[in-house]
Amino acid sequence: MGCCDAPGLMPIEDALDKMLSRISPIQTTLQLPLADALGYVLAEDVLSPIFVPPFDNSAMDGYAIKLADLERSNILPLAGKSFAGLPFEGEWPAGTCIRIMTGAKIPEGCDAVIMQENTAVTDLGIEIKQENIKPQNNIRPTGDDIKQGDIVLEKGVKLTPRDIPMIASLGFSHLNVIAKPKVAFFSTGDELKSLGETLEDGQIYDSNRYGIKPLIEGFGCEAIDLGIIPDCQDTLRATFEKAQKMADVVVTSGGVSVGEADYTKDILEELGEIGFWKLAIKPGKPFAFGALDDAWFCGLPGNPVSAILTMYVLVQPMLAKLAGHTHWQAPESIPAITKTAFKKGPGRTDYQRGIYAIKDGQFEVESTGNQSSGAFRSMSLANCFVVIERDRGNVQVGETVQIQQFNSTLY
Ligand code: AMP
Ligand code: MG
Repeated sequence: MGCCDAPGLMPIEDALDKMLSRISPIQTTLQLPLADALGYVLAEDVLSPIFVPPFDNSAMDGYAIKLADLERSNILPLAGKSFAGLPFEGEWPAGTCIRIMTGAKIPEGCDAVIMQENTAVTDLGIEIKQENIKPQNNIRPTGDDIKQGDIVLEKGVKLTPRDIPMIASLGFSHLNVIAKPKVAFFSTGDELKSLGETLEDGQIYDSNRYGIKPLIEGFGCEAIDLGIIPDCQDTLRATFEKAQKMADVVVTSGGVSVGEADYTKDILEELGEIGFWKLAIKPGKPFAFGALDDAWFCGLPGNPVSAILTMYVLVQPMLAKLAGHTHWQAPESIPAITKTAFKKGPGRTDYQRGIYAIKDGQFEVESTGNQSSGAFRSMSLANCFVVIERDRGNVQVGETVQIQQFNSTLY
């Protein structure tokens, strides 16, 4: 289905292209202690200055031998020991073996380590019971893991708990990383109350900020919470002006549709150059993106599911680009068989909330129930989005749909 079948609605791919084509990565870098660098994006390639391991070492607790010695006898008297951090020193007489521990340096001339379980202690020495021993048996050679000069991680990688210990094994105490983008966010709406306050008639609790903040942080950015702003032109204008000075991106929820209290549009037209889009996506149709003088702007719809969904689908890739996270990957689509029907009208790409399971190697998915954009329980229950194509109608039980498992930001 082309755009002409859904007049005025912008396909989500076009919206993403428009956003990403304008964003360029932050240039500010900082040097951080390795232990504090988790979640930051590398500002440069990490090259290994050393071999890891830096010396040949034993993979087992056992005995270091010279294979040629076994031609005369399989019982070898003990000539010394090599422990982790305390290598064997001195002469190693022919026809003897050396007690060795895991991680200990392999003595000069040794060409195999026999694990303890394949030996026996006798009056004459250590009996080697293993047959057909291959050269280099149980020896971890120098550089087995990482060679000197290897690029172990590329610029643009976001550091995970799997990367940090590897970098530690190379001896780096500090790393050059890209500064995290700062994202200021606030909720708009006269009906919104903070937690701890009592709800009056017609009021609801502001829940969006509680989803937006962990997402901003999960995307590797610094979150600045500016609270709830009422639907009042002057307060909104002042808040936008403050926010854009503090942050690289300003994210708001609410006030971007066409209601009478939706002032955001007027103010933003004064303060910057903002596009208000009607996206061919459900939920999440009203969305705004553009530039203020000192920051980018993303205006999320107020409905809680729409706010989180547009954060995930549109703002996440944009912040990844801004953060210099060039290795960021969009969630992949996986085919799944439906266990429940999914109601769907053609014209927009639906991101329904689903629960998938794998049965006999096959992905199956059921709906979380109520799919209203105001019903946030559907997000809480879900473990995936069920992405139903723009031109598709109702989906029956047993049909194949594409699902996207939540990534680590929504998990
Ligand atoms: P709006 O986009 O401002 O027209 O709001 C759309 C719907 O989302 C309305 O029902 C609002 O009450 C609701 N809403 C707006 N902001 C929030 C928020 N921060 N938390 C929970 N619901 C909200
Ligand atoms: Mg509102």
